[in-house]
Amino acid sequence: MHQTPWMTSDILSRLNANAGMLLVRSLWEYCPEHMFIVRVEGPTDFVIEAMNPTRQAMLGNDTVAIGKRIEQLLPPPLCHGVIANLSRCVECGSPIRYEEEGGYIDRNGIYQQGHWQTLLVPITDQEGYISHLFGVSRDMSQLPEQPVGANPDSKEFERRVHERTAELVAANEHLTHLATHDSLTDIYNRRYLLELAEQELRRASRYEQSLCLMMLDIDHFKEINDTEGHLSGDEALRRVARTILATVRECDLVGRYGGDEFIILMPQTTADGAREIAERLRRTLTQASSLTISIGIASLEPTDHFVVDLIHRADNLLLQAKRNGRNRIEYAA
Ligand code: GH3
Ligand code: MG
Repeated sequence: MHQTPWMTSDILSRLNANAGMLLVRSLWEYCPEHMFIVRVEGPTDFVIEAMNPTRQAMLGNDTVAIGKRIEQLLPPPLCHGVIANLSRCVECGSPIRYEEEGGYIDRNGIYQQGHWQTLLVPITDQEGYISHLFGVSRDMSQLPEQPVGANPDSKEFERRVHERTAELVAANEHLTHLATHDSLTDIYNRRYLLELAEQELRRASRYEQSLCLMMLDIDHFKEINDTEGHLSGDEALRRVARTILATVRECDLVGRYGGDEFIILMPQTTADGAREIAERLRRTLTQASSLTISIGIASLEPTDHFVVDLIHRADNLLLQAKRNGRNRIEYAA
């Protein structure tokens, strides 16, 4: 079948399963084209299994179509033409596109002459048999006359699908961001940071690479809240997050562990390298603001299996830094 650009782009593959379902559901509910699914019972036996609201409205909402055979729903010769095309689609096992004309009785019981452009797509079951056919029909009799030279192809339909898909991709990306980032500082949230950190730890262990985890806590942070208010406290948290991001490398993972505690995971970094970065961070913050921080650094040991092993050591070193007077860095020698 002819592949249009939006079908070949990776925009659809970037949708997660939920957004994909949402897209199909939206199309089914709101698309102005007629959509239907028929069950294949035999080479010329087809039963209506579902219809979208547009299709149902054409027949009238009182008409029960679901569960009926094509010949029970459409009068001859229209039903013969429809069945012939459904059979053809099953036979060739791939999507087909065709135009059909014929008379039918509308929702008001009035005979109408219809003209449709239809796309049929086979749906296969787990064994690879075509169990259903999905159809999209455009009612050509409802369309305004095409100006001479205009392309009667479904460009407008494609444009709308593309537009809706792009909206869903954007909404999906936004939701993913909300689920993985801390809303105040916009760095990784604890859950996502730990998820990424586990991957980094497995990689570092497998390739016997160095890895360091830095745990950082603002000194006397409660005092900022108590003396300057919580909004100033929030701004201090954002400032620390910004400073960390500006100091570490692109490949380092930065997240808010909770309250005024931050974690920085540094792949392929030795304890000495991590200490240098920590010192730079501490100095930058104290030079640019009245904030001071305490830091504990743990580096990967062969006995570490989970990130929590590193966190445990870094946290103990952080407590030690606090006990030893704050505004300092502790690491295992
Ligand atoms: P220490 O030097 O021992 O770390 O003392 P501290 O005052 O910084 O104590 P601690 O780290 O226990 O204080 C954390 C405080 O952070 C307690 C809590 O009220 C405050 N906090 C936690 N989350 C937020 C937040 O999102 N915004 C603000 N403004 N404050 C927060
Ligand atoms: Mg603190």
